Order: sequence, then structure tokens, then C-alpha cells
Amino acid sequence: MRLVDFHCDTILRLVNGSATGDLMKNDGHLDLERLKQIGALAQFFAVFIDWEDETVKPDPFGYAINAISYFKGQVETYQDQIGIAHNVEEILQLEKENRIAGILTIEEGAILEGKMERLERLHQEGIRLITLTWNYENSLGYPNAKDPILMGKGLKPFGKKVVERMNELGMIVDVSHLSDAGFWDVVEISKKPFIASHSNARAIKDVTRNLADPMIRAIADQGGVIGLNFCPFFLNEENHETVDSLVQHLIHMIDQGGVEVAAIGTDFDGIGGKMDLAHVGEMERLVHGLRKAGVSSSSIDKIFCENGLRVIRDTMR
Ligand SMILES: [Zn+2]
Repeated sequence: MRLVDFHCDTILRLVNGSATGDLMKNDGHLDLERLKQIGALAQFFAVFIDWEDETVKPDPFGYAINAISYFKGQVETYQDQIGIAHNVEEILQLEKENRIAGILTIEEGAILEGKMERLERLHQEGIRLITLTWNYENSLGYPNAKDPILMGKGLKPFGKKVVERMNELGMIVDVSHLSDAGFWDVVEISKKPFIASHSNARAIKDVTRNLADPMIRAIADQGGVIGLNFCPFFLNEENHETVDSLVQHLIHMIDQGGVEVAAIGTDFDGIGGKMDLAHVGEMERLVHGLRKAGVSSSSIDKIFCENGLRVIRDTMR
């Protein structure tokens, strides 16, 4: 399958030493061997920065640059299997060469620390998507939270400027983890389609990390996508990732925003718990589940690949 997956935390596991193995083959949810097996097209790899982590705290930007260098080193080592892509043309060229396209992202806009020159630097380093917040307040805005006061806080002035500059630079704006008010600011400010790289439907599992129906429709209206998150805690009350639960969220997104809004953002290597579809090598099971639920082949192609490529074409440079 030509899979475009908008989010994984594989770099984190490899860099912090919790994984056995490397990018080619490891004991986690995702590696090049399994991506090749399923015929994946493009994989977004997040450099995740946990602002409160003791190893990150002394020099978060340095940590990010190191993680980027580590990934580039792995790509170099396995250059017959993968290349780094910065736009849709490079993704399609890599496909012709039978190589996977790796796209670098930053999960946690805190890394900018209010400095626009860092955004320019990250673009130069090859970063093509930034998740504006993780679960803490940062110089851009506020995270999703149960606290309605926090959830009602929008983007800060610097966050608004960052969205505008990301549009100009050709970087994808990612609203996963963002507060609801911040989300609506992005709707207002972004001149390009934006995405929720790894979020599900709040109507099905009522957690703040998921998207309310009007938010799903707003992303669709601007031509963006939502990457289906495989995290058990964002799927159902049983906190059990089953193929049926994944299908249910996708069908709800499609009901609300049309088939053009649905995409994949597994969050593999950043999640745990009860998972029936346990790693990227089993992705075909989701295809079967969608077929069983009556989703057409052309819609399945859109969810797994075409919608993602459209957003990449419209945004990444
Ligand atoms: Zn995340």
C-alpha cells in the first residue's frame, strides 16, 4: 500500500536508547524493513522534545539538532532504502527509486523559544512540519487540557507569526495537542491547508486530544487532513485499539468532513497499551477492516495516500 503516515516517534526511541536496533530494524512499532514490506510511500518522523525531561532541559535546541543529525546519519547508512523528502516532487522521485520518503518534523514548538530565526534554521535543516505545542504552554500558545480556561486560550502573538511564516516557508502547520482556542486561531490565520497529524474524533472518545466535530469540518473546509491516531486511550472507553475502533473513527471523520479529510498519523513508537494492530507491518488489517465496513477502494486510497499527498503538494516546499 502507498502509505503516507503523518506521525511516529521512532526517532525518540532510537535516540533515547529505549529501542533495540536502529532505523532499519528495531523492536518497536516501525522500521524501514516493515515500511518496505507494506510498500509505504512517505513516513513523517517526529523529533519530539519533552520540555520537562532532564536530558533535554539544559539545551533543548541542541537536543533537537542532535536528533536531526542522528536521523540524517541513519538515512545516509540506509540510503538505498530511504531518502529525506522536502516536497511532493522528491517523494515521487524516491518512489521511482524504490526508496521510502522520510519527512522530518518537530513535535513541540517550544523549541523556538520565541526566536523566529530558529524557524528558518529548522527549515534549512529539512524540517517540514511543526506541531505547534505538545502538552505544555510554550512561546506559541497553550496545549489541549481539561481545564476550560487553558483550553480557551488562543495563540500568542509569536504563535500567530509562526503560522504565517510556516505558510511562507512551505512547512505544514500541525494542530495536534493544541488548545481549542489555538485551533480556531490557526483556522483564521493559516492561508494554507493545515493538519492534525495524530488526533481522533472527540464525538467517539471524549478526550481533549481529540477533535470536536466543528473542528473536523474546519480542517476539511481548508483542505487539510486528520491523521488517525492508533493510541488506545484516544479510541474508546476500553482503551483498546482494535481494527473496528480505528475504522469507527475514520468513518466518523468522513461523515463530518468528507473522505478528503481522513488520513493516517499512527503515533507508532509514541504509544502503548492494548493494541490489536500492533505495528506498521500489520497495516493491511486496517485496509481489510475498511473494506468490510463498505468503504470503497478509491476512498481507501485517499485515506492512506492521496489526501496526504494533496496536502503535501499544497504546502511543503
Ligand atoms: Zn503527540
